[in-house]
This record gives sequence, C-alpha cells and structure tokens, in this order.
Amino acid sequence: MFAFELGYEQTGCEGTDGPVVDWDAASCRDADSSLTGLFFSDEIPDILEAKRICQTCPVVAECLEGALSRREPWGVWGGELFLNGRVLSQKRKRGRPPKNPSPGIQLTA
Ligand code: SF4
Repeated sequence: MFAFELGYEQTGCEGTDGPVVDWDAASCRDADSSLTGLFFSDEIPDILEAKRICQTCPVVAECLEGALSRREPWGVWGGELFLNGRVLSQKRKRGRPPKNPSPGIQLTA
C-alpha cells in the first residue's frame, strides 16, 4: 500500500545517493496491511484518522517528499491528502454544495 510496499525502500525518497529511509518504522506499516482502506478512503473521518496516524510517523517528511516527487494519484501520504499528484487542502463532502449554506453555530450572550 505504501512506499515500502511499492519498492521505494530500495532507494529511499532522496534517490540512490540519498540516505536510506527506515520504512519499517512507518506508523502505517503492519503485517496484514489493515490500514490500506483508511489511507485510500473517500470518507472524511477515515482521511482524518489517516492524517492523525501520519502525525506520529518517524518518516513523515520522507514520505511526503516521495509522494510529491512521484505525484501520487490519490491517498494520504506524509500527512497530506493527494489527488492527481497534488495536495488537497481539504476534502469536500460528496454531492453538490448546499444552495443556502448553514450559518454555522451562533453564539449569543
Ligand atoms: S507518513 Fe503516513 S503514509 Fe507515510 S509512511 Fe508514515 S504513516 Fe505511512
């Protein structure tokens, strides 16, 4: 699912002359790839959970750099959500935006 499963561990994210990245330490790595669905989900709660996992990952910088250089088509990489090789600042809910957006929470004194 992730860089280490795609064979990037052979070269690291910085190319063959760069430092070797310890993908075994990745927070998303588990024996049965149980987190794959989370990191490639369209659901906002799943995306937020994947991003939360990335926050504690010791290879987050290398992961993000690699995903940017590979122009990942989709998924959460390095704590960011990718679509068509670009980082999305936020994921919108499915469907058309409401005609009359809710005013949000009003605080009154
Ligand atoms: S930064 Fe996120 S996607 Fe990248 S290796 Fe770490 S946990 Fe996995």
